[in-house]
Amino acid sequence: MQYPTPISQLIDSFMKLPGIGPKTAGRLAFYVLDMKEDDVLEFAKALVNAKRELTYCSVCHHITDTDPCYICQDKQRDRSIVCVVQDVKDVIAMEKMREFSGLYHVLHGAISPMDGVGPEDINVPDLLTRLQDEQIQEVIIATNPTIEGEATAMYISKLLKPTGMKVTRIAHGLPIGGDLEYADEVTLSKAIEGRREL
Ligand SMILES: [Zn+2]
Repeated sequence: MQYPTPISQLIDSFMKLPGIGPKTAGRLAFYVLDMKEDDVLEFAKALVNAKRELTYCSVCHHITDTDPCYICQDKQRDRSIVCVVQDVKDVIAMEKMREFSGLYHVLHGAISPMDGVGPEDINVPDLLTRLQDEQIQEVIIATNPTIEGEATAMYISKLLKPTGMKVTRIAHGLPIGGDLEYADEVTLSKAIEGRREL
C-alpha cells in the first residue's frame, strides 16, 4: 500500500534509528499523527536542539553543551587519574556508578585494522598531549573487553610506558565481548577496583 508522502517520509526517518524496522517505524509514524500538535513540536524541537547545542568537550571529548564539559570543569574531581573509554555512553555508565571521581578521555572508537581504524582515527594522539599535564599520574584503560578494545588497550599502554606514566587496565569481571555500557554498576565498580598495572 502507498502512503501519502509525508507519512512515508516520517516512516523512512524512523527507520534510520537503530533497531527500528519498517513495522515499528510505521507504528511510530502513526502514533505521531495521533499526538497533540504541541507535543509533536516539542519533540521535533528537542531533536534539533540536541543536535545543534551539543558538542564534544575539547579536553576529554565527552558530549557537552559547555566547553570544557562539566566533568573537566569540576574542581572537586581527582585530576591525577584519567580513565580512557571508547564511548560517551561509557562515561555515563561510569558516572552512574558514582565511585570514580577522576577525569575521562573518550576515544570515540577502538583500533580495528580490519575496519581500517588506526590510532590516529580515534582520540589517541591528543591523549598524549593531554598527559603532559603533570597533575596526571595514572591512566586507567577502560576500553571494552573485545578484540578491538584489548588491542586499543595494548597500543595505548605501549605508547605510554616510555613516559613513565602508571597505566592500569580494568579487571575482567566484565563479560568478554561485552560492552562497558551494559555492565551493571557492581560489576563495573569491581572492575575499576581490581584494575591491574600494565
Ligand atoms: Zn571534558
